[in-house]
Amino acid sequence: MNAEIIAVGSELLLGQIVNTNARFLSQQLAGLGINVYFHTVVGDNADRLMSAIEIAKNRAKLIIFTGGLGPTKDDLTKETIARHVGKELVMDQTALESIELYFKRTNRVMTENNRKQALVLKGSHILPNDHGMAPGMVVESGSHIYMLLPGPPKEMEPMFLQYGCQALASKNNSNEKIVSRVLRFFGIGEAALETEIIDLIDAQSNPTIAPLAGDGEVTLRLTAKHVDEHIALSMLDEMEMKINQRVGQFLYGYDNSSLLGELAKTLKERKHTITAAESLTGGLFQQELTSIAGVSSVFKGGVVCYSNEVKQQVLQVKPETLEKHGAVSEQCAKELAENAARLMNSDIGISFTGVAGPDELEGKPVGTVFVGIAIKGRATVVEKMILAGTREANRNRAVKFGCYFILKNLKESQNAK
Ligand code: ATP
Ligand code: MG
Repeated sequence: MNAEIIAVGSELLLGQIVNTNARFLSQQLAGLGINVYFHTVVGDNADRLMSAIEIAKNRAKLIIFTGGLGPTKDDLTKETIARHVGKELVMDQTALESIELYFKRTNRVMTENNRKQALVLKGSHILPNDHGMAPGMVVESGSHIYMLLPGPPKEMEPMFLQYGCQALASKNNSNEKIVSRVLRFFGIGEAALETEIIDLIDAQSNPTIAPLAGDGEVTLRLTAKHVDEHIALSMLDEMEMKINQRVGQFLYGYDNSSLLGELAKTLKERKHTITAAESLTGGLFQQELTSIAGVSSVFKGGVVCYSNEVKQQVLQVKPETLEKHGAVSEQCAKELAENAARLMNSDIGISFTGVAGPDELEGKPVGTVFVGIAIKGRATVVEKMILAGTREANRNRAVKFGCYFILKNLKESQNAK
């Protein structure tokens, strides 16, 4: 099956927003083994939308629309498709009730045009909207499948994952169940990862393997199809095991997990407390850690030690260390991590010191980063890196590396036992 994605919205054409819906859907469809050959963007204009549909129809079996399902006058996707396929719009009672409920729950007054959102194409398969009002739908006409999804990513993405995928799977091949799993890697580049598993990628058919890189991380989405869901899952397990044998040391999590989330989870499980001394990252590590609910049991607090004065007076870094080696040094990172852990009475101390850029510091090049990790009962480790991004990217990368190093060290200490 091949597909075209039509994003409807004048704000896309005006450059006010980026078409992230097309990106998301393309990734998902790749995972389902559906080929996407075209992305189209069209404004909120019925005639131009109609001509986009005519073109898409000649080159795709599946046409997925996002946007224009809302209550206002410029939302005309449904109406235009109804005209195109010659089906009428009918009120869907379930959708109407859920819209009414939504207004009641949020204590807002429902206006007449909100009812319009419960209008659906007659005979369509409804995709419930758990995060908003307008339902999505799938409708077949001739040999074509039309899928209509809302514009806001917060509504569209969960709708597709929860209901859209399965609807397509049943159209694609009646009885097959599709299961997928995302493996998340850190500490290995996309090219290096691909090289390690290139034979598996080349030979892939079922499960499929779709690599994706971004934000310093690499993910592999494994997707398996089988009429028996248990067998599909065991096919994923088997492929994961093969991949693990090659690059398992870089695998840190699954699906929507994050390095910070994994770190918080591990610390909680092991009842370890953590503190941080942050120069380079200016509190970014602590900010991200505290954005995770429930970390108060593992995180007491830490220090932003941007100046040498604070490093020396608050974190008791020796003056000789700063004089002899500078603030961006292995020795300074070591003292910062150890002293922070001791002063804050925590099991783990992590420190970040480095040159974020754009200018070099102490004769050390931009991107030089030292991360110190002091874990109670283990020798302190200092990891040195040279990062190549912008100031912001380097700081973000340093935080991720910090999490990764702690997880790695904890894993090693576990294995050593
Ligand atoms: P609403 O009920 O909010 O009006 P809708 O289904 O009618 O939803 P639109 O009005 O087209 O959708 O878009 C609503 C918002 O969703 C946009 O302002 C934008 O923030 C977001 N959005 C729409 N299309 C896209 C897209 N292709 N990629 C990313 N975001 C999008
Ligand atoms: Mg709208």
